[in-house]
Amino acid sequence: MQGHFLYYKFALMEKILNYIDGKLVDPIGGKYIENFEPATGKIYSMIPDSDERDVELAVESASKAFPAWSTLSKEKRSALILKVVEEIENNLDEFALAESRDNGKPVWLARRVDIPRAAKNFRFFATGILHFASESHSMEKTAINYTLRSPIGVAACISPWNLPLYLFTWKIAPALAVGNCVVAKPSEITPMTAYKLAEICAKILPPGVLNIIHGYGHKVGSALTSHPKVPVISFTGGTKTGADIARVAAPMFKKLSLELGGKNPNVIFADCDFEKALSRTLDSSFDNQGQICLCGSRIFVEKPIYEKFKKAFVERVAAMKVGNPYDENSRLGALVSKQHMEKVLSYIELAKEEGGTILTGGKQVRIDGEYKDGWYVEPTVIEGLAYNCRTNMEEVFGPLVTIMPFETEEEVLLYANATEYGLASTIWTENLTRAHRMANEIHSGIVWINCWLLRDLRTPFGGVKNSGVGREGGFEAMKFFTEPKNVCISLS
Ligand code: NAD
Repeated sequence: MQGHFLYYKFALMEKILNYIDGKLVDPIGGKYIENFEPATGKIYSMIPDSDERDVELAVESASKAFPAWSTLSKEKRSALILKVVEEIENNLDEFALAESRDNGKPVWLARRVDIPRAAKNFRFFATGILHFASESHSMEKTAINYTLRSPIGVAACISPWNLPLYLFTWKIAPALAVGNCVVAKPSEITPMTAYKLAEICAKILPPGVLNIIHGYGHKVGSALTSHPKVPVISFTGGTKTGADIARVAAPMFKKLSLELGGKNPNVIFADCDFEKALSRTLDSSFDNQGQICLCGSRIFVEKPIYEKFKKAFVERVAAMKVGNPYDENSRLGALVSKQHMEKVLSYIELAKEEGGTILTGGKQVRIDGEYKDGWYVEPTVIEGLAYNCRTNMEEVFGPLVTIMPFETEEEVLLYANATEYGLASTIWTENLTRAHRMANEIHSGIVWINCWLLRDLRTPFGGVKNSGVGREGGFEAMKFFTEPKNVCISLS
């Protein structure tokens, strides 16, 4: 009876499929993984538990499609990708709801940020390819060099769970636009919008141009990154996974782009525009429940305004509503998984052990009714920690920030640069000279001055130190996904 009930329950559940050779298919092994809805903590769909056989089929299909796709005119490739954009935009609400249900983020956020940005990624590279040119180097009367830039072949694109469709398309779009074929793997924690994208692409793109395989990182991800017919890998995720992939890819001489973890500093000087700094620091701390690689998790405030800033910040954080993601008034939704929620809560405990004082938050939130088993955590602000304690050194990736005062630029640079990460930083000051000086001295790939998350897709995006290798965005991405060849012609 119980078996019958389970069969019935799973039969009713939406089943995600792989996208291989233009078709939506079951994994060869016929196995599935449960997919949870963070808002309720309940299983709501099934994800293919694919293995190396599915990866093999996808790579074969992408290799077969490569000669035709890579030689199709860029105008035709562009036009096909723009049709994908149109379909995403036509289905904005459906995509936003799917993203929110899969990830736990407020649906208003997915509608305002994630899904429009996914469409924008495709549009940006579909039009960017029309303007992409290669270099020439003249040696006056001796010779002329020109550089050919050719698509490489089958590209692996692997993405994390925090901005699922946003980051997935950020990789796929440039890879396809320049003429590669792609085998992509979304996070097994948030696979739904990648599946919805596959449904669209199956009607638009030639078979094999894009393949999407679902499943675990240690199975699908590693089969893909170690595959001898995959010469280029673009990965976004944790630093440890990035190191694992680099270990596999390096001896095979694969081209590698790694966008990894962060522990970003927010540096707030006394001469800042107080209200602007306050309100944007609230966003950079808690947007997407603090689960954005660019979120600032360490707030350093210059002493003369420390108490005033702290008081206003804590008051505003305490007023933030944590609620179910479908409620338009929820400022924060659910964390992505039970395991991740437990990790965040364990860091709150660690901060207490390390001598920190919780100024607000610090606890799991229990919501009544159908959301009672969801994974919610209060936005949390902690004071009184040493700049180099574990809470301030390790990536938590949740709604937890620390706050501390500083007196001099030298001191705050010591704090800001103390971690092994170097993705992004934010500086708030009205002193132009200081802003430039700080931007020069701070160790991060991205520096925002008097703003946060203001993105021009043409700019180089990426981190230094353990935050990654290589840059995404604009022509950097198109260069990454092409192989340059120099041709030197003698003029004598
Ligand atoms: P993760 O490293 O656990 O997983 C990322 C992806 O890699 C998933 O699709 C996973 O299945 C896959 N994977 C896991 N093991 C693999 C392996 N051995 N080989 C190949 N693929 C494998 O990361 P996550 O928990 O999904 O994401 C959170 C992390 O991502 C955080 O550290 C965050 O800072 C980082 N992140 C970085 C950026 C950036 O631009 N630098 C952006 C977003 C998130």
